[in-house]
Amino acid sequence: MNSNSNTLQDLFLEELEDMYDAEHRITKALPKLIEAATCNELKAGLEKHLRETEGQITKLESVFRVFDEEPSAAKCEAIVGILAEGDTIVKKNKKTPAINAAIISAAQKVEDYEIASYGCLKAWANILGKNEAVRLIDEILEQEKKADHTLNALSSSKNQEALEEVEPGALRR
Ligand code: ZN
Ligand code: FE
Ligand code: FE
Ligand code: FE
Repeated sequence: MNSNSNTLQDLFLEELEDMYDAEHRITKALPKLIEAATCNELKAGLEKHLRETEGQITKLESVFRVFDEEPSAAKCEAIVGILAEGDTIVKKNKKTPAINAAIISAAQKVEDYEIASYGCLKAWANILGKNEAVRLIDEILEQEKKADHTLNALSSSKNQEALEEVEPGALRR
C-alpha cells in the first residue's frame, strides 16, 4: 500500500467515529418523533427504523473490528444541528395538522445525511480493500434508503393533511 492509503484510512476512521456518534444521537431522537407523530403508519415506520438504527450501532462496531480499532465516537456536529432543527420544527407544529409533515421533513433530512455519509464510507472501504466493511456499510446504506423511501411514500398524504385548517376536529385521526 502506498502512503495515500494511510491518509484515506485515517479519513475513513474519522468518518466512522462521526457516524458512530450520529447513530447514538439518532436513537435518542427517534422516540421523540414517534411520540409526537399522530399518524399510526408514520409511528410504525419510525419505530421500525429505530430498531434498525440500534442494529446499525452494532454493525458499525463490527466495522471498527475489521480495522482492528476499538469503537469510539467523535461528535457529529452536522447531526446535532439537523436534530436540533427537527426538534424545533416539531415543537412548533405540535397540535397542528402539519405535525406529521413536519416530522417527515425532519426525519428525511437525517436519512439524506446518512445516505451521503455511508455512500462515502462504502466507497472508501472499497478502495481500502476491506470487503467485509463494504458489506456491512452497504447493509446500513440500504436501510437508510428504505427508510427514506418509506417517508417519501407517506409524505404526499401527510402534506395534504397539513393543508387542513387548525380546528379541534382536524386533530382526531
Ligand atoms: Zn394518519
Ligand atoms: Fe442510521
Ligand atoms: Fe457527521
Ligand atoms: Fe436512518
